[in-house]
Amino acid sequence: MYAHIRHAVLACTFAGATVLAGGCETNPVTGRSQMMIVSEDQAQSVSAQAYTKTVSQARRQRKLDTNSAVSARVQTITSRLVAQAVKISPASANWNWQVHVIEDPNVNAWCMPGGKMAVYTGLIAKINPTDAELAQVMAHEISHALLQHGREKMSRAVATNAALALGSIATGVDLSGLENVAMVALELPNSRTAETEADRLGIEIAARAGYDPRAAISLWQKMARLSGGAGGPEWLSTHPSDQTRIANLQKLVPKMMPLYEAASAGDSRAGRRPRGER
Ligand SMILES: [Zn+2]
Repeated sequence: MYAHIRHAVLACTFAGATVLAGGCETNPVTGRSQMMIVSEDQAQSVSAQAYTKTVSQARRQRKLDTNSAVSARVQTITSRLVAQAVKISPASANWNWQVHVIEDPNVNAWCMPGGKMAVYTGLIAKINPTDAELAQVMAHEISHALLQHGREKMSRAVATNAALALGSIATGVDLSGLENVAMVALELPNSRTAETEADRLGIEIAARAGYDPRAAISLWQKMARLSGGAGGPEWLSTHPSDQTRIANLQKLVPKMMPLYEAASAGDSRAGRRPRGER
């Protein structure tokens, strides 16, 4: 994805095992060393397969929402976000970005490696997000993909698979039959570090797309209010909401306001309706 990704010379350790050089990559956006056993090509290709399967299954079950106002709204918001995402990560301009609205009562949304996104109708129904809040959800998910967090989780899933000999790591992992890894990785919680990174980048992408950064705060407050008890947001099981997250986002808001205001001003000059919450 990034032409200038450097492979760490030293080995990095993960889950008690030492992974040889080539397993570690320094992320050019964050500077953080990530353990990557699964190559980017592998991550994208298994994700594309898993996505196609998920979407066609939803279509067969008549649970794919393609025509509603909700779907149109999600398409509009995500295309504005993607337009900014590809500026931050030019390689992602080559991704086949896709988004679908899936009829599912769970409060959930995700973006797989390679830009394969989904929003569940349960999130729309139970959170009732403004455009700006929905943009925060999707920008956060897009950031996970840009920052290779899905690939990192897939690597973790593969690394912890005891059936996999360490020797295969050096020669490249055979991912045949590992399409499920893409789905398993979706359900693995992100690390706290990955969450902080996605919060930081997500609020920026949304601001650059003209969405009010203050919506990040109201979104997480709404999510937190829904948590606890049965039927809480599935999204929170992989993206835990806590006061630290909200406090960190609050610190970012003043830094993001100028980006949001510049994007909104650009819209007005172009004679379009100013972006923001409706
Ligand atoms: Zn997250």
